Amino acid sequence: MQPDVKTAWLSILTNVLLVMIKALLAAATGSLAIKADAVHSLTDVLSSFAILLGIKISKRRTRAFPYGLYKLENLVALGTSLLIFLAGYEIIKDVFANASPLVAGQMPLAVGGIALTIIITWLFSRYELKKGEETGSPSLVADARHIWTDMLSSLVILLSLLGNMIGFALDRYAALIVVAFIGRTALLIALDAVRVLLDASLDPESLESIRRIVTNDPHVVTINQLRARNAGRYKFVELDLTLRVKELEKGHRISEEIKRSIKAELQHVDHVQIHYEPQQKDHFIVAMPLSADRRTLSEHFGEAPFFRMVTLLARTGDVTLDAVTANPFCDEEKAKGIKVANWLLTQGVDSLLVREQLAGKGPGYVLGNAEVTIEVTRQSDAEVALSNLRESGSQES
Ligand SMILES: [Zn+2]
Repeated sequence: MQPDVKTAWLSILTNVLLVMIKALLAAATGSLAIKADAVHSLTDVLSSFAILLGIKISKRRTRAFPYGLYKLENLVALGTSLLIFLAGYEIIKDVFANASPLVAGQMPLAVGGIALTIIITWLFSRYELKKGEETGSPSLVADARHIWTDMLSSLVILLSLLGNMIGFALDRYAALIVVAFIGRTALLIALDAVRVLLDASLDPESLESIRRIVTNDPHVVTINQLRARNAGRYKFVELDLTLRVKELEKGHRISEEIKRSIKAELQHVDHVQIHYEPQQKDHFIVAMPLSADRRTLSEHFGEAPFFRMVTLLARTGDVTLDAVTANPFCDEEKAKGIKVANWLLTQGVDSLLVREQLAGKGPGYVLGNAEVTIEVTRQSDAEVALSNLRESGSQES
């Protein structure tokens, strides 16, 4: 048995034990508050069963339900919350109908019994929180927190019993407080279930981490659309991306990598669907490292004092922009090649015309990874090298 399934079963057994203790105490004392608490623990048993049911059958896909039965868990949760509301209503009716005094002789037993349930609840919530954090199961952590708030309502009952022993008839007020706890739980469960059933978006934190993972990839130009939803405990993500790629094959590889990172970083991601299109360019930019005379192609890359950037129309090859810029990293001590390469990427450079072979070097790797083509030429005159490049480009097309 998986550790999280085992802990879920232990949670059920603990709650069954609590139901039995509380039901016996309620019968012995006639306390409505304890009765309400017993009903509460019973509804907890039901919702824990809903969680287990979700784990067991939600992964099944059939011909009639090709997207899986994930939402069955939410549907069961919604049903459970309705049951809880109903139970709360019955107890409130009792509070206003027949509030007979508690059986005085049973008070020591009741105080002892409720104290015992408080200790059991406290110990189990600590154990479940630890297991939940170990196995990384959000539903176990949530259940542990829930059981801890259950302890608070038992504390209220303990106080009212002690008050009863010294002559204050607090039971019906304690019962109302316990019902308020029940109502709050039921409302939270119901709201969460309805949100998921209506395909509400994933929580903002998860969306933000997905956005961060995707934009961390240097090939991603823009996220055109990001949609994600829950079904049961699972997350479904849809992405529409523009990628800086020339070949479809590479786009496929990149989107597989993005899928892997999303599934590695977020829990319970069932499916990531990525639609991508290569970036459509109406112009492209050629960069050339220049020597101090601003005309000769530099024999170096990182150390070149100037860079000439020429913008060409993709359709005709006409020059639309031609500018020489000082290399901002020329005097840099360390890794200037890499810094220059990254700077060229921010300038939107598509190809680089150089005399120095960059393959196997840091800058070559940075540029190649971002799909910048590196043309190595023997020509030292920048103008001639550029027109050679433009001619070879027009022959290709
Ligand atoms: Zn509870």
